[in-house]
Amino acid sequence: MQRIAVFCGSSIGFKPVYANDAKKVGEYFAKNNIGLVYGGGKIGMMGVLADTILKNKGEVIGVIPHLLRHEEVAHTKITKMIITKKMSKRKVKISKMVDGYIALAGGFGTLDEIFEALTLGQLGIENKPIGILNTNDFFKPMLHQLDHMVKEGFLKQSNRDMILVSDQIKDLIHQMGNYQAPKMSKVVNTVASK
Ligand code: AMP
Repeated sequence: MQRIAVFCGSSIGFKPVYANDAKKVGEYFAKNNIGLVYGGGKIGMMGVLADTILKNKGEVIGVIPHLLRHEEVAHTKITKMIITKKMSKRKVKISKMVDGYIALAGGFGTLDEIFEALTLGQLGIENKPIGILNTNDFFKPMLHQLDHMVKEGFLKQSNRDMILVSDQIKDLIHQMGNYQAPKMSKVVNTVASK
């Protein structure tokens, strides 16, 4: 894994445990020469992650859409910043640069990005590993929702199983390194007809 996209909050959360884990991820990336590709922000979890990697002399590449390129939110000290015209172009750009995706705690933006990666995996357009760092069981309700979708016939178990989960970054990266994408056709049949 040379480069990984990390999606995470533009907020920091109410408990210090979230920022602490963002720091641990940053330290791990720098120590193991894993380059970060991320949303390019300097605020919230994104800022903590990027700053930690920079402090430890690692690589940080930001991909930010034009409309978010304000001084208040865009990080100005990272290794490289790529500016895209649209939000949608940013995702394409990020996906071309990375070997896998990780989500840390976040909000709508984080979920949008990780679910887009999952959708690409589900369609067989990509077969990159997708991990979730489950700090403080943050994603437990979301994973529960996904199990509910399997139970109700809207999500295949094999696609649900694409999501790798751990509360330790070292273990998560290890799982990602061993990831085998599910075998599937590029055309998704309706799950309910299974
Ligand atoms: P959220 O989880 O809603 O806080 O959104 C965070 C995710 O959306 C990040 O992974 C970023 O890629 C993107 N994002 C949201 N807000 C910003 C911002 N102000 N600057 C850069 N990226 C952002």
